[in-house]
Amino acid sequence: MQNEYQHTTSFKVSPLEEFKEAIWKVIETVPDPEIPVITLKDLGVIRDIKVSDDNAIEVIITPTYIGCPAMDVMSMSIEQALTEQGYKNVKITKVLSPAWTTDWMSEEGKKKLKEYGIAPPNQKQIVCTPDLFQQEEVVQCPRCDSYHTKMISRFGSTPCKALYQCNTCHEPFEYFKCH
Ligand SMILES: [Zn+2]
Repeated sequence: MQNEYQHTTSFKVSPLEEFKEAIWKVIETVPDPEIPVITLKDLGVIRDIKVSDDNAIEVIITPTYIGCPAMDVMSMSIEQALTEQGYKNVKITKVLSPAWTTDWMSEEGKKKLKEYGIAPPNQKQIVCTPDLFQQEEVVQCPRCDSYHTKMISRFGSTPCKALYQCNTCHEPFEYFKCH
């Protein structure tokens, strides 16, 4: 009787909501310019879509960290995707606050990153060091899942990533930084 239940709870969506929904469908498939296996939706950088009375579209995006050079490419990709679908009057607005957090990245996105060989961002964890307890990023090797990893360079192939090496399988890998 699930269908019947769904019928009774369904409601009519407004034309504006339908319009926004269609825009979401176009832009959520836009790939990340640096890591093409994940989409901007996976990344969680698209925060909102606003449509004014005269049908001007404003897409609100938040960079994964301030000064991310890929943001301009992302803006252009979103604009291009919408223009190709016939949407006009598109504006992309960058909002820095609240700052992007790892929680905004979808589980699907984290999974795809890992399969791509990049360690997905994770929350800082409390670790015990010889002198004191401190907050440190514990980064898991995307190849062998070992937590025995060390940072080699704060910057990888792009400023959004850091270069790590696994102490267990000895393979270097990139880590998607939180900020
Ligand atoms: Zn490893």
